[in-house]
Amino acid sequence: MKSIKDIPWECGKGWWPMIEKVASAIDSFNAANPENPIEVSQIKQKFGGLRIYHYNAPEDIRRLIDDAIEASWYTCEKCGSTEAVTTNNSGYMQTLCPECRKQIRPKIIRKRDKINE
Ligand SMILES: [Zn+2]
Repeated sequence: MKSIKDIPWECGKGWWPMIEKVASAIDSFNAANPENPIEVSQIKQKFGGLRIYHYNAPEDIRRLIDDAIEASWYTCEKCGSTEAVTTNNSGYMQTLCPECRKQIRPKIIRKRDKINE
């Protein structure tokens, strides 16, 4: 059977431990319920938050998934930090800590003035 560990996780590695937890719960549920498995079609980042598209999850697993999605708003998508994490509301939305946000700031390319060289 296909594990959700086999589908692409289309988000930064900072969220992978959260997804890992959900994936393990789903895999063990599916191992115990092979005729009625939980299906996960997609895992990705959208508008700064984690999305896990799933089908057929019982309530306790759904709660785990919802907890991971909720936690994504407080967890840096790049490094997993939970310190001073923010989600920007313009441009390409991402939930990041201040350090990682600094790193994604667009680079300003200055042309060298070669006349005086
Ligand atoms: Zn970070």
